[in-house]
Amino acid sequence: MEDQDLHEIRQSIRQLCDGYGEDYWLELDRNRGYPTEFVRELTTSGFLTVLIPETYGGAGMGVREAAVVMEEVCRSGAHAGACHAQMYVMGSVLRHGSEAQKQYYLPKIAAGELRLQSFGVTEPTTGTDTTSLKTVARREGDEYVINGQKVWISRIEHSDLMVLLARTTPKSEVGKKTEGLSAFLIDVAHAREHGLTIQPIDAMINHHACELFFDDLRIPADNLLGAEGQGFKVILDGMNAERILIAAECVGDGKYFVDKASRYACDRIVFDRPIGQNQGVQFPIARCYAEIEAASLMVEKAADMFDAGQACGAEANMAKMLASEASWRAGDVCMQTHGGFAFAKEYHIERKFRETRLYQIAPISTNLILSFIGEHVLKMPRSF
Ligand SMILES: Cc1cc2nc3c(=O)[nH]c(=O)nc-3n(C[C@H](O)[C@H](O)[C@H](O)COP(=O)(O)OP(=O)(O)OC[C@H]3O[C@@H](n4cnc5c(N)ncnc54)[C@H](O)[C@@H]3O)c2cc1C
Repeated sequence: MEDQDLHEIRQSIRQLCDGYGEDYWLELDRNRGYPTEFVRELTTSGFLTVLIPETYGGAGMGVREAAVVMEEVCRSGAHAGACHAQMYVMGSVLRHGSEAQKQYYLPKIAAGELRLQSFGVTEPTTGTDTTSLKTVARREGDEYVINGQKVWISRIEHSDLMVLLARTTPKSEVGKKTEGLSAFLIDVAHAREHGLTIQPIDAMINHHACELFFDDLRIPADNLLGAEGQGFKVILDGMNAERILIAAECVGDGKYFVDKASRYACDRIVFDRPIGQNQGVQFPIARCYAEIEAASLMVEKAADMFDAGQACGAEANMAKMLASEASWRAGDVCMQTHGGFAFAKEYHIERKFRETRLYQIAPISTNLILSFIGEHVLKMPRSF
């Protein structure tokens, strides 16, 4: 049984999302637009900054509460990919920033004056092999000079700040491949005028993802997050929260599909009876319901462990894998239940179907999660 606080968060988010119906999201999807009003309202109402401690102007809540926010946003039919990173990217500043960086940035992020919702890790030629990334940051006096390329960097055009991962020491010169990488805070507007080129990617979903080209971009050395050479840890520490929140989004997507499919199965009459009276239609929906409930328990477990300060890498990864697979199956069943109408955009299913598919690939693909479990939990041989 959910406690009263979580229940109230759920109700408030439902009310907020009611103001942004599915046609709002369909229109944005068609025009590749950004949900500025929605993100603003989610921010000013305090829901997008729940994870920022009260001392820095946030609500000071945990990942468990944040997960409820994201689940309900997705369950409403919205596309949380437009804003979810504002919740967790700031964790890099919170956990690894200097006190001066925290004092400067976090209150502004909490107030919605600064948007830190972009993080640049993935590169076109190295992909999942993060420690082989080729973007370099060279120290020159009190500046770093950045050169390289990133791909699939979401929301950069709608962010004031980005956390960037670059190499400061060549891989060949470090003891461990995870060393020699550094994390930086990039002022996007300034960077665009001094060596950063941004090119939007024409993609299957409206995720505002771009390709980035860095050509001798100079940034103040003060923008280093954490210690030089320890950037992999800065990024890694934020990943568990990200995975749990994305898993919560998948739970929301899954519930959306199950709600929609079961309703339609009751309403649609073919052969003089509701299609849901046929167990061939009913059982797949019931199975999806059970799978989503199970994934939801794993999300709760991972979130509770995260909030208790416990190591939860395995649980966060498992929650993301189970929830993304369950939401995908629910999307498929919802499509099947709607028959031909599933393909009509006005039913909204095909948009959500495309959107939820992403989460078996990003922010980490299922194979990489299985590899993590195989190696770190089950102690089987390392494969790469
Ligand atoms: C819409 C969208 C938004 C994104 N937003 C961001 C963002 O904001 N910031 C960011 O940094 N990145 C972002 N990404 C990138 C995303 O995190 C990567 O696409 C994802 O991590 C997979 O990397 P890749 O595409 O390079 O796949 P690859 O690394 O090329 O892998 C391709 C396939 O091969 C599999 N594979 C690779 N190596 C192995 C192995 N050793 N064993 C088994 N299987 C393997 C993978 O599981 C995957 O299925 C985004 C991607 C998309 C599509």
